[in-house]
Amino acid sequence: MTELKGALIGCGFFAINQMHAWNDVDGADIVAICDRDPGRLKIVGDQFGIERRYRDAEAMFADGGFDFADIATTVQSHRALVEMAARNRVPAICQKPFAKTLSDAKAMVEACRNAGVALMVHENFRWQTPVQAVRKALAANAIGKPFWGRFSFRSGYDVFSGQPYLAEGERFIIEDLGIHTLDIARYILGDVSSLTARAERVNPGIKGEDVATILLDHENGATSVVDVSYATKLSKEPFPETLIELDGAEGTIRLSQGYRLEITNGRGTTTMDVSPRLLPWASRPWHNIQESVGAIQQHWVDQLKRGEEHSTSGADNLKTFALVEAAYDSAAQRKTVDVKAML
Ligand code: NAD
Repeated sequence: MTELKGALIGCGFFAINQMHAWNDVDGADIVAICDRDPGRLKIVGDQFGIERRYRDAEAMFADGGFDFADIATTVQSHRALVEMAARNRVPAICQKPFAKTLSDAKAMVEACRNAGVALMVHENFRWQTPVQAVRKALAANAIGKPFWGRFSFRSGYDVFSGQPYLAEGERFIIEDLGIHTLDIARYILGDVSSLTARAERVNPGIKGEDVATILLDHENGATSVVDVSYATKLSKEPFPETLIELDGAEGTIRLSQGYRLEITNGRGTTTMDVSPRLLPWASRPWHNIQESVGAIQQHWVDQLKRGEEHSTSGADNLKTFALVEAAYDSAAQRKTVDVKAML
């Protein structure tokens, strides 16, 4: 297979997973890396044997010699870097959250569309093995037409030690984690017409909200609840599992803690273990997320080579990002928000 050459921008906490996953992906190699912090540049360059190292993304694009850019920085730089990729006619992957605002996100999609280059958001949670198993069961008509769902992520895990910036932002759980859960809800039950949300901060040591409950009206008539919390102390910590409940006209699906999938319908109940693989470079409990990073990066390469749109293209991700903005707006105003009007 022809190897695509990639350049990674942002060599921080999560980029380590992306670099490991690029080693596993068929058809692509990382040939250059960039980070404005020389310490991070050295750590990642030495660990993964990358010689071409840049502190300035503009200089890296000027030198060229790569087929795509993988942007793994935090949200503040996403718009500038995606637009830089578009100006240089280089297809780009951008980490979530895609942008600071929906209007920025729309401008980024437009810039790549005008440049004729692919843009994918690294929205990897829908690529998790258990989430894929739920979608497959639904597509196989295991429970008939779904009319209700719950997508739940409740945890007491200390995410702040690895990602200290999460404690500092005005916005926290909806923007950082809920964005994934909302994307899974869209992926499983389809696009959303309106939503109602409530949010609060329980942990006094952080700035943003760490608990949110969001009621979604899906276009197909189904109703779902997305509930997320980093203030929930349980006897057995579920991080980072998303638990899913679906009720359909002919049965139910339950994805419960421990990656257990139960399907009940007229034929009885079947139970499956849908655990993710523990890849050689991965570590528990992150292995579920780490496996999905490999899956989304392989999808990037495969679709780029086929010239086809990505599952989480920039255009697709606008619909997830709109849910994030709508949730903050709804929680602040205590009103139901028309999501379709935002797009
Ligand atoms: P981090 O702060 O550890 O790393 C970001 C790196 O980018 C830093 O080394 C910083 O120096 C560098 N950087 C920032 N702006 C730059 C610029 N303009 N040019 C060059 N380098 C620049 O952050 P992180 O925890 O690795 O998070 C990065 C992104 O990954 C965030 O958007 C976060 O939400 C996302 N993330 C995604 C997942 C997931 O499952 N998809 C999980 C964790 C984090």
